[in-house]
Amino acid sequence: MNTQQKIDALRDELRRHNYNYYILDNASISDYDFDIKLKELLALEEAHPEFFDANSPTLRVGGAITKNFQTVVHDHRMYSLDNSYSKEDLMDWETRIKKMVDGDVQYTCELKYDGASISLTYENGQLLKAVTRGDGMQGDNVTANIKTIKTVPLQLQGDYPEKFDIRGEIVLPFKGFIKMNEERLEAGEEAYRNPRNTASGSLKLQDSSEVAKRPLECLLYNITGTNLGITTQFESLKKARQMGFKVPGAAKLANSIDEVLEFINHWNIERHNLPYETDGVVVKVNNLYQQDELGFTAKAPRWAMAYKFKAEQVSTRLNEITYQVGRTGAITPVANLEPVQLAGTTVKRASLHNADQIKKLDIREGDEVFVEKGGEIIPKIIAVDFAKRLENSKPTDYITNCPECDTQLERIEGEAKHYCPNYKGCPPQVIGRIQHYISRKAMDIEGLGGETVALLVKGGLITNYSDLYELTTEQVIPLERMAEKSAENLINGVEASKQIPFERVLFGLGIRYVGETVAKKLAKHFKSIDALMFASILDLVTVDEIGERIAESVVEFFSSEDNRQSIERLKSFNVQLEVSADKLANQTEKLKGQIFVVSGVFESVSRVELKKLIEDNGGKVSSSISSKTSFLVAGDKMGPSKLKKAENLNIPILSEQAFLNELK
Ligand code: AMP
Ligand code: ZN
Repeated sequence: MNTQQKIDALRDELRRHNYNYYILDNASISDYDFDIKLKELLALEEAHPEFFDANSPTLRVGGAITKNFQTVVHDHRMYSLDNSYSKEDLMDWETRIKKMVDGDVQYTCELKYDGASISLTYENGQLLKAVTRGDGMQGDNVTANIKTIKTVPLQLQGDYPEKFDIRGEIVLPFKGFIKMNEERLEAGEEAYRNPRNTASGSLKLQDSSEVAKRPLECLLYNITGTNLGITTQFESLKKARQMGFKVPGAAKLANSIDEVLEFINHWNIERHNLPYETDGVVVKVNNLYQQDELGFTAKAPRWAMAYKFKAEQVSTRLNEITYQVGRTGAITPVANLEPVQLAGTTVKRASLHNADQIKKLDIREGDEVFVEKGGEIIPKIIAVDFAKRLENSKPTDYITNCPECDTQLERIEGEAKHYCPNYKGCPPQVIGRIQHYISRKAMDIEGLGGETVALLVKGGLITNYSDLYELTTEQVIPLERMAEKSAENLINGVEASKQIPFERVLFGLGIRYVGETVAKKLAKHFKSIDALMFASILDLVTVDEIGERIAESVVEFFSSEDNRQSIERLKSFNVQLEVSADKLANQTEKLKGQIFVVSGVFESVSRVELKKLIEDNGGKVSSSISSKTSFLVAGDKMGPSKLKKAENLNIPILSEQAFLNELK
């Protein structure tokens, strides 16, 4: 055997033992012998760097240091999941599904693992990259760290598609978590709070050999890509197992929602015997073709539904109610609680939402209250334990003045929240608006963080976002924790934000009710800030999905002299206040006023591209056929009931080619 053969043989052998031990739970070598072979391989690799392999089992021990995790755009977006809490929710979901797809629907039921989501990309059987979910569009490249997790195959076995993404969850099993905490306490360090946060924190450690020491596991649940040769979710789980991934065996096929509920009821109890945390069940339409028909909403697939296990509850004392002022001036009451353990974390605060909520539940300082943690991060108060109410307790008087600037609060008709109207002078509003402007989804200004914004405002250097563009390094350097280099970064970051596209600038302006999606819609329709500024409420509500509430808020925003001035200044600094020419070039109004339904499989464009084409040309895409539908664009394998419905309603049917010709 020559050296290369020897290295190859060792790598193969170690891979096999690794698989047997971590995936099959069936050791085929002693730890000691494994170590010896690993050291042998390490020595050979060191002596022969020409045989380097980025996926060698020796990389499992880590060693690579990552200073800054590179941001990577996901090829396929990582969606969130819609939640359900009852049989009724699931039945409603089924009703919605059945309107959109043909034939029987089967479901794959899986456990919902509670950890950190990860997307792994494989090419020719090799792990190419591992990216965190991030905001779903883009995440951090954490490949070096992920390679140290033994349940992540570096080299696949058997048959595998040439290229695909596989999604899963990095979890920290209880046993390992407890052991880690014992070691930390022994070393005089603070214990970690819960396995999930520890797992997600681990992915961002700079030293991969530290990650290697943590007993993390990767549980896989979804293969994404094209030409995968699989037709159902259940099959894809099996396929993933065959390729060498760890896919828990709990997954089951169900033929009805009743069978789904059986699965849920079984695991609601049985989950307490699992080695890792689960917070529910994920139900997925099994047939991938049906999944494709159902598609996605802005946030989540229509073909999947999470069922959350009932939240845990505890009771504790409410010590004090305090009030926070948000960037829009909205007041949020906060319950400060006697710290209590709940679902694995220590809870000290809970949101009280608004004055009505406090009144309805008659919540008072000093009360013993029931706290629950559901799907959301901030726990909530469910009820007061009136039997334990103190004798001298007094009803809660909601504040009348802003806790930050003492201005009298206002409450708009029909709104639950109180607002501080001191738009220009209330510090959390002034600071919050600028913080929103620079945030990742808006202008994403590198080198400038929320705390620095607060310092800049408090130091009188800026009072609104347009002032950012006149900052100089000399002004910034004297700030706390600011060195020359970081000051320069800040100024450069501000400069770079002039390239950020209009829709994100519009989102960044912080107009109430204008979130990311609405900003996109407005930008697309009006194309420039000038056009938007002149729009009347009537003009605005004619835009698809823009209602009166948003329209009024937009008009109000531009009616303020201050806001108009800020915008004029942004303009003078060349911030993008209109849709760029390149983007306009690909957009027309050809399909204006027409509603399309797209169904089937297409040849020259993907379904997603087809939908984008329709929208870019002013048309609207709808998911189900009704009398309002203008055209049905039909691809291959289109569902027969859709076809029939279109025929019954006399809706013209276009082939892929006919549609594309129409556009030209
Ligand atoms: P949420 O974060 O509540 O929107 O839920 C979505 C997340 O659930 C996904 O990003 C996954 O990380 C996670 N998840 C856990 N188990 C599964 C599963 N079996 N199928 C799909 N997603 C899962
Ligand atoms: Zn105020």
